[in-house]
Amino acid sequence: SLHASDIAHSMHPYTNMRAHESQGPMIITRGDGVHVYDSEGKEYIEGLAGLWSVAVGFSEQRLVDAATKQMMALPYYHSFAHKAHEPSIRLAEKLVEMSPEGLNRVFFTNSGSEANDTVVKMVWFLNNALGRPEKKKFLARTKGYHGITIASGSLTGLPANHTDFDLPAIPVRHLTCPHHWKWAHDGETEAEFTARLLKEAEDVILEEGPETIAAFIGEPVMGAGGVMTPPEGYWAGITALCEKYDILLVSDEVINGFGRLGTPFGCQKYGFTPDIMVTSKQLTSSYMPLAAILVNDKVYNAIADHTAKLGTFGHGFTGSGHPVACAVGLENLKIIEEKDLMGNAARLAPQFQEGLRKFADHPLVGEVRGVGLIAGLELAKDRATRTSFTPAGKVSAQVAKFAAEEGLICRNVYETVALCPPLIVTSEDIDKILARLGRALDRGW
Ligand code: PLP
Repeated sequence: SLHASDIAHSMHPYTNMRAHESQGPMIITRGDGVHVYDSEGKEYIEGLAGLWSVAVGFSEQRLVDAATKQMMALPYYHSFAHKAHEPSIRLAEKLVEMSPEGLNRVFFTNSGSEANDTVVKMVWFLNNALGRPEKKKFLARTKGYHGITIASGSLTGLPANHTDFDLPAIPVRHLTCPHHWKWAHDGETEAEFTARLLKEAEDVILEEGPETIAAFIGEPVMGAGGVMTPPEGYWAGITALCEKYDILLVSDEVINGFGRLGTPFGCQKYGFTPDIMVTSKQLTSSYMPLAAILVNDKVYNAIADHTAKLGTFGHGFTGSGHPVACAVGLENLKIIEEKDLMGNAARLAPQFQEGLRKFADHPLVGEVRGVGLIAGLELAKDRATRTSFTPAGKVSAQVAKFAAEEGLICRNVYETVALCPPLIVTSEDIDKILARLGRALDRGW
């Protein structure tokens, strides 16, 4: 059977492999709108849109058609050394048009991790080009998620991605996670917390030497680390520090981008404009793997001048700007616009967020947080003292398991149960999500 074959042959990402040998897989066989179905025929609402990514739902025929048409016309070509093809040209044009002012150039990769590795290399290349080879260090945050390759995994600030992988392997300093409920001192207001974090950031910059700090990378709302929304004034303060010390600001919008927060991009929600913006996931609704890095003229010109000197930009993937992925991305962005899915996210956000806030005094829940159509319920043994359950992550895993039994797929990340439904979700779907989650929580642990 498929089940036995998976146990015999597969190595699953993000999985306890020994536990998998006895537990086996949940095999998903098909999708329809916000729903997916397992091999037993059971229907689930995909409350995490796959991996925070399937904006248009699991059965969009227009994306199938766009892929088929491109496969028939030109299934593959690359963009190395002056070669080009229409899908990547059109998608780059579209991304520049819809992105915040100033982000005028696009570089494609296959995944968010590759995109962030590429960002690290671009920043290093650029500072070498500018004759300041010592300016190479990154600032990131504890609990930030930027991927799992050597450089992006180093930027990520989660123990599971570092332990015994010998990461971090590039120069990076992880600053305190900007999550007030969990990391504020007793009695510290949000404003005081922000001020403390900004002081910490500045202290680290001064301690390392501003001439050694190249870039700050962060997700406007932190996703995979547990859906943490920033405290008041945080991004304005970070932007000011980056300006003061000539540090490039990188907005990792792999989850936040394309309407997830109710604005086209996450940086717009918090009123800042990055030098570099990284997008993926909802870019193609994950029907094809694709990521896009957008950079401003300052970054582009420094890199471009240096390629003129060296003769090339010695970086790029076989699949960079894959024509089928770009054709799917372009059609996906058209659908998001035509169906006003970003507007849908903004309109349904109050129902979704307020509905979830009703669980705030549930005995298992410590804090409910989120914005737009992304949210997390952090579970806690004692809300008042912010004490987590032990062993870590056990109760959130149990709630996610019960939710699946109730017909809702969500994701347990550490102590948090995360939700991030497809942008096509309806008001009725949200009612169902809330009811199913409520039943899962009520089953206790
Ligand atoms: N950056 C962020 C903010 C992410 O959420 C992710 C994946 O979840 C990545 C980067 C890495 O993307 P990928 O899994 O495509 O390598």
